[in-house]
Amino acid sequence: MNIPFRKVGSIPQTFEIERDGTRMSGTLVQGAKGLVKLHARLEGAISLPCDLCAENFDTMLNEELTVLLHDGIFQGTDDEYDVVEFFDGLIDIDSFLTSELELIRSDYHTCQRCLNP
Ligand SMILES: [Zn+2]
Repeated sequence: MNIPFRKVGSIPQTFEIERDGTRMSGTLVQGAKGLVKLHARLEGAISLPCDLCAENFDTMLNEELTVLLHDGIFQGTDDEYDVVEFFDGLIDIDSFLTSELELIRSDYHTCQRCLNP
């Protein structure tokens, strides 16, 4: 799902995508400094490898996230939120979901069996 930056205005625009049992839904709205504010909820089941026993286990996601999106390279920083850059004038929601899931996978995870032996 690609949403053109120029279509994002001051009225929040909703989006929703599902992939592999996960779902991300949220809003896009015009922010300051030419940035677009993305607020989303990430839900669903995800299979993660346990860092202790290396076995995969399923866990439920229920996360809220807010980031700022910029069309092209962003010169500067925001004190409050991470800035994610997109190119070709399009907000690629699928690749955003992919990178968020990769971020979660790269975190430290422990399965219930190792937590409660
Ligand atoms: Zn384990």
